[in-house]
Amino acid sequence: MVMGSLPEEFDVAIMGGGAAGYSAAIRASSLGLSVAVIEKDLIGGNCVNFACIPARAIRESVYSFFLAKSNKSIRGELELDWEEVIKRRDEVTNRIRGNIESAFKTLGIEVIKGEGVLSQGKIVAGGEEIRYKDAIIATGSVTNIPPTFGKSEKLLDYRGFYSLKKIPGSAIIVGGGQSGVEIATILGKAGVQTTIVSPDFLPGVDPDLSALAKKSLTDMGVKIVPKRANGFDGDKLIVEQEKIEGEKIIVTTGQKPNLPQGINELPVDELLRVSEHLYAIGDVVGNPMVASKAMKQGVIAAEIIAGQKVAFDQKAIPVSIFTEPEIVIVGSTVGDKVVFRTNTLGWSLATQSNAIVKLFHKDGVIKGVETAGRGASELAGEASLLIEMGAQLEDLSETLHSHPTLNEALMEASMLAQNRSVYSIRKK
Ligand SMILES: Cc1cc2nc3c(=O)[nH]c(=O)nc-3n(C[C@H](O)[C@H](O)[C@H](O)COP(=O)(O)OP(=O)(O)OC[C@H]3O[C@@H](n4cnc5c(N)ncnc54)[C@H](O)[C@@H]3O)c2cc1C
Repeated sequence: MVMGSLPEEFDVAIMGGGAAGYSAAIRASSLGLSVAVIEKDLIGGNCVNFACIPARAIRESVYSFFLAKSNKSIRGELELDWEEVIKRRDEVTNRIRGNIESAFKTLGIEVIKGEGVLSQGKIVAGGEEIRYKDAIIATGSVTNIPPTFGKSEKLLDYRGFYSLKKIPGSAIIVGGGQSGVEIATILGKAGVQTTIVSPDFLPGVDPDLSALAKKSLTDMGVKIVPKRANGFDGDKLIVEQEKIEGEKIIVTTGQKPNLPQGINELPVDELLRVSEHLYAIGDVVGNPMVASKAMKQGVIAAEIIAGQKVAFDQKAIPVSIFTEPEIVIVGSTVGDKVVFRTNTLGWSLATQSNAIVKLFHKDGVIKGVETAGRGASELAGEASLLIEMGAQLEDLSETLHSHPTLNEALMEASMLAQNRSVYSIRKK
């Protein structure tokens, strides 16, 4: 971009080029609107560059290693080539970011590099004043590291961890929430000496499901210290009266919305509006902070700005936790509950892994699904569809599911709810 070469006014100016911002930009531009994206770091934001995608890419390599190592039919010494893992992570993230950037070029979306500041109906960034008809705030979220930890090369947040060039010999993870437990699962599977320090473990997750993730971590040799870390002395982690040591200390104490200066919260209506001509989408509007929500809100905001009659009105936003086994939470826990355990299913026996499905329904209408099992994240979409469509137990039970698969477990849970189960029988 040549300084001062911007059009007088864009139809849409989007602050932040992450999952929410790039989805809004591509959709708005496809609908014929002129679009500017203001991004201070990398297009793709957290998800593509520092969170979901690198996490998934690393996990995929480490998971294959772990499965092979725990499969008794595979013999010989197996070694994880960490350099290859990192190389693959970088190839994957660069490729995805490159795809978004080339879509921007094809569509003529203007990218303005710099930190945007909203100021009297304009956005100021990179020495430019960007004028717009409608603006979207998509500035994401930031890590909430307590100030008592200070700064040190040893100390990383999740971005630092997922950008590492070399695996540490040992690591302490501060925080037992989703990010911390996912990192511990990766390190545990890779055979790295790992400790989680946290007074709680997967808070907010059903205890039957989180217990499976906890047990698998313990089986991998991950130590779980149920205490609060108070700070860092520049070398060691301070945990109550003790000091503990690790090559890297990874602090995962939560995310908070990255709100524009001077704003404490950004409540939006179902049209994702903060005020007239100002919209907010993605992590910046609060929980749940997941990319699926961010991307959908991006598309919906663009369509609303283009004049379409749509709204963001989801009944179910799936949350998938990439632990071992994976955990999925969709919808609500209102009404009656059935618990289906897969241990008698062909899938369980063939894959030597068990899953639990908890299905919630009110007068036969499916309201929620919570499950843990190997590959369970692939059930999240079906669970959301059932809830969004207001499906009845019969809709699920009368739909054939391939055999032997994990998704049969969802169908079997609905059979159990109707006392028709073949796999979970009671004595007459
Ligand atoms: C460790 C971890 C793993 C995760 N894994 C998953 C997962 O597997 N699946 C899933 O669905 N979700 C996952 N998430 C959540 C997901 O990353 C977020 O929900 C998603 O990135 C939100 O997108 P966003 O566009 O709202 O924000 P972001 O991706 O944070 O993008 C915001 C962008 O705005 C830019 N920006 C901020 N302020 C300004 C400014 N003033 N001017 C210009 N640019 C600015 C930032 O540089 C950034 O690029 C994970 C999160 C974490 C922390």
